[in-house]
Amino acid sequence: METISCNNQTDVKITIPSLVSLKKKQEATIVKVNGVEVGGSEVIIFAGPCAVESMEQLFETAGAVKTGGAKILRGGAFKPRSSPYSFQGLGEEGLKLLSQIRKETGLPIVTEAMDTRQLEIVAKYADMIQIGSRSMQNYSLLKEVGKCGMPVLLKRGMMATIEEFLFAAEYILNHGNEQLILCERGIRTFETSTRNTLDLSAVPMLKNLSHLPVIVDPSHGTGLRWMVPAMAKAAVAVGADGLIMEVHYKPEEALCDGQQSLRPDEFNNLIIELRKVAGAVGRKIS
Ligand code: PEP
Ligand code: MN
Repeated sequence: METISCNNQTDVKITIPSLVSLKKKQEATIVKVNGVEVGGSEVIIFAGPCAVESMEQLFETAGAVKTGGAKILRGGAFKPRSSPYSFQGLGEEGLKLLSQIRKETGLPIVTEAMDTRQLEIVAKYADMIQIGSRSMQNYSLLKEVGKCGMPVLLKRGMMATIEEFLFAAEYILNHGNEQLILCERGIRTFETSTRNTLDLSAVPMLKNLSHLPVIVDPSHGTGLRWMVPAMAKAAVAVGADGLIMEVHYKPEEALCDGQQSLRPDEFNNLIIELRKVAGAVGRKIS
């Protein structure tokens, strides 16, 4: 993608940390996830289940998203759940299933590490490390992923301002890692009809302030399956470099986030629509 003008930065009254700033580095950073480039002219689709549940679930879902056009497979093995009684993920067993599926599909894998103790094992199996919304302010973890030398997906904290989000990103760059993608996943507001309020204005704002790629998660951003396609299309229209979406081969049986997971046919149809939107804004989805 061509260099973006940062002339508008002066109109924005927040502090922008130096390493993430587009003033410091005026060409867009391309993040390479096992051969897949994020931040270029292509809009990259990340998709897969919220959590890895079983070989069958992962195999069926990964095959479906690959056919539909996903380039990177998502799936949590360590899950940050609101209740300690909810499914916590399969742990290392889940990571092993992910790496097995990578062998079969060729899709690179992004999966979450919730704390520094999990980092080593997650890094052993994954192609990209996800830092979840709840961990955006876990500064020890940010420092460690900064040192780990692997691509990182940093999700915006649900209560974080753009300034706080950029400072969290700065920790990772400051510890030596520029292979970082920012993800808008919705913030807490007074609204209760959606799970979160998907702040799509964060996309042009972040693209104007930083050289880092920005992707959008309309699944957690809305919490509602039927709303995901509309917000995914809007995200591409406002300049997102990618989308991360939850897909499940049988959402009604999902152990986590089934209500916001697309069915494979819905995912397929959405990608067809997204290709038109991408084309209209000078981008491409292959
Ligand atoms: C997830 O991607 O599975 C997840 C838990 O997302 P978030 O950290 O944005 O809530
Ligand atoms: Mn989820």
